[in-house]
Amino acid sequence: MSDKKINYSGFGSAAVHGGHTKDPNHAHLVPIYASSTFVFDSAEQGMRRFSGKEDGYIYSRWGNPTFNEAEEKIAALEGFGLDFPLKGIMHASGMAAISTLMLALLKPGDKVLSHFSLYGGTEELINKALPPLGIQPVIADLRDLNRAEEVMKNDRAIRMLYLETPANPTIQCVDLEELTRLGKKYGLVVACDNTFATPYLQQPFRFGIDYVVHSTTKFLNGHGTAIGGILIGKDLEMMNGHITKMHRLLGGNSNPFDSFLLINGIKTLELRMDRHCSNAEKVAPFLEGHSSVSKVNYTGLKSHPDHQIALKQMRHPGAMLSFELKGGLTGGIEFMNKLNMCIRTVSLGTCDTLLSHPASMTHYSVPQEDRLRYGITDGLIRMNVGIENVEDIIGDLDQALLP
Ligand code: PLP
Repeated sequence: MSDKKINYSGFGSAAVHGGHTKDPNHAHLVPIYASSTFVFDSAEQGMRRFSGKEDGYIYSRWGNPTFNEAEEKIAALEGFGLDFPLKGIMHASGMAAISTLMLALLKPGDKVLSHFSLYGGTEELINKALPPLGIQPVIADLRDLNRAEEVMKNDRAIRMLYLETPANPTIQCVDLEELTRLGKKYGLVVACDNTFATPYLQQPFRFGIDYVVHSTTKFLNGHGTAIGGILIGKDLEMMNGHITKMHRLLGGNSNPFDSFLLINGIKTLELRMDRHCSNAEKVAPFLEGHSSVSKVNYTGLKSHPDHQIALKQMRHPGAMLSFELKGGLTGGIEFMNKLNMCIRTVSLGTCDTLLSHPASMTHYSVPQEDRLRYGITDGLIRMNVGIENVEDIIGDLDQALLP
């Protein structure tokens, strides 16, 4: 028996139970199906499975019960409260999911339109890996809707509108409803990276979007224990047909252990996000009022230019923020070295508060003028506000900010 059909009234219940299929051996949790292949009762059954006449697993690159539960759970959350079904395909990483999306839907001669602030890996995929395949990037400031429409109208080779909101690392937000409306007006496929928000804070499918991708490595897993990604779509024919085929051919499948960790992480998504968010609400004004900080990028602050967009499309502005230190590069390095409890690292979305200094870490090899164009100043610190007691987070920041 499966409880996939239950309509939960609360998101938290869907996070705990959604997507679960009762195990034939009555295990409470989905087992880690560490098996590369699945056995056929007969040659005829193998034939039926390969021809698609019978459902069932064949080979783990093609599908596996542990991945399947993660796919069903995340699709249930992205579709929570919506009246149409979604299909998810688990991947080895967020980048694998994004690659499948782009390689499955774009062909030579097509262009992909995106905002200038994007996760670095996606930015490189669009700007460096796709052009040799004949797929060109068009980068614009998509917060300017008139400009966005002008670009879509004048360049009919644009086939995909790719959004990431809130965006990594600047936390800028773009208007999902308006951009999707424009994208549809000009016949584009519209996709959104929902990693920073999670489906608890933002559901892009509510705005008519076609595809959502996640790095499940982040808040969905929540504990920093596994890399993963998912591609979710509402066109079931496309998802079950061409995109499934491309996913299988590209080979970016998940693995059972990582999917198992993800499923168990998601069960506490609502609880964790509530705490992440309420902590961020207190950390942002503390930073804004600090004499060593020149600017705080947090869409929950009224001072942030994207505050209204965040309020319009998100349940809460979330737990990601960045801030600029007056001390520039040296100030950034000194601050990072003084942290005691908060963790110096890249990545985000874990229970622990994580901070990174792009100028000395992720963007160290990017020329300064390029970094500045993307808003990555020398003293910019990116922060994932964790779920510790907020006094400890603020206390650690305070002592590290002392000159
Ligand atoms: N999308 C966003 C917004 C990210 O922040 C990241 C990684 O940091 C990715 C995608 C890529 O995810 P992964 O590292 O799981 O491939």
